Amino acid sequence: MNRTIAALVLAALTSLALLSAAACGKEGSPPVKGPQPEQLPRYEVNRGFELPDSPTWRSAKDRGHFVVGAKEDQPFLGEKDPATGVYSGLDIEIAKMMSASLGFDPKTIEFKTIASANRETALQNGQIDYYVGTYTINDLRKKQVGFAGPYYMAGQSLLVRTDETDIEGPQDLDGKIVCSAAGSTPLQRIQEEYPEADPVAYDTYSVCVDNLLTLQVDAVTTDDTILLGYAAKVPDELKVVGETFSDEPYGIGVPRNDNALRFALDDAIEANQKNGNWKKAYDATLGLSGKPAPEPPPIDRYPAG
Ligand code: GLU
Repeated sequence: MNRTIAALVLAALTSLALLSAAACGKEGSPPVKGPQPEQLPRYEVNRGFELPDSPTWRSAKDRGHFVVGAKEDQPFLGEKDPATGVYSGLDIEIAKMMSASLGFDPKTIEFKTIASANRETALQNGQIDYYVGTYTINDLRKKQVGFAGPYYMAGQSLLVRTDETDIEGPQDLDGKIVCSAAGSTPLQRIQEEYPEADPVAYDTYSVCVDNLLTLQVDAVTTDDTILLGYAAKVPDELKVVGETFSDEPYGIGVPRNDNALRFALDDAIEANQKNGNWKKAYDATLGLSGKPAPEPPPIDRYPAG
């Protein structure tokens, strides 16, 4: 069998594997479970809450609900069920906690999928009120948007095929095709710190994963959280290798000048960590990828400006 045919056969097999893993479990194994509704916390709506100093909150009040930006293809974090359109995952739970704390029933949230490269624009042009989707807080982005949090600390890692023996960490990427998302911090780190690697970028990580399964790329790089979710879907095909090699503190993106909203979200994150909602939500979502709930990082309530 020549290589092209082998690749085609593998592509067909792996997409079958992905399909069956998603639908009903692979080769008799139990299905990979998503969040179970009965395990998730119920967020009490903070009725009567007012935030008149926040233009974002005021327009949500007029509208009657929040519009929240999220990811739709990141297992355990932000995933949209193609059949029902329902979003689930840790980031989605964080978005719901925030809505309830700020006085809006989380059931009323309108989620919009926004890719990594489009987050700043979506917040700047008012397409969304806030964004919860594996969004790393950093100084460059703070010039364009505000960040509440962090609510979780992730780290960059690598996803490869299970039969890969050459790549065990970023030091092994010389001459390798490494896929990541446009506009992401992991892509930038590969470009800047591993100049011998051969990076390629797509809008989403799920396209990278398809390309990894069909032998178009050698590795996918982004946060460990995201990669562990893909590996959990097809553990016979994919593995996460090595230690994490960056700090990716996840924040909630808000319009840059809406400090009232940012501080209210900081308060809400803290309150939900204290009352146990954060841990319960983690255990029912990202915790399913096998990592026990860590101590959440301290909130960085940086001054208005
Ligand atoms: N946390 C990284 C970032 O914000 C990677 C994940 C993502 O692209 O959402 O760029």
